[in-house]
Amino acid sequence: MPGADNSGVRRCARCDAAVPLEARWCSLCHAAFEAPYVPPPSPEPVYSRWAGDAVSLGPRARVAWTAGAVLVPVAVVAYVGVIGMFVVVAWLFLAPVVLRDVWRRTRVRPSR
Ligand SMILES: [Zn+2]
Repeated sequence: MPGADNSGVRRCARCDAAVPLEARWCSLCHAAFEAPYVPPPSPEPVYSRWAGDAVSLGPRARVAWTAGAVLVPVAVVAYVGVIGMFVVVAWLFLAPVVLRDVWRRTRVRPSR
């Protein structure tokens, strides 16, 4: 865009005064700018179910949660017996909710 630079200000085409990017006219000579400043488009973000970031689970934690989701009902049936089947049935409804959260996609970084 003509008259725009990367320092947070643009230059008036008429008097070369530095004015804020969002200004619609020059504060010095009052020349109107033909178009509001449009920032360059940000790069497309990259999402991943595998890579973690500072606020989400990393690969090891995700695998551990998944292994636990499988092993807990197996252990319940093995140690509690038939009554444990009720726990397993309840877990069949709960596990997808937990695992969906564990494996949700997180924004990793913007691509280039
Ligand atoms: Zn001006």
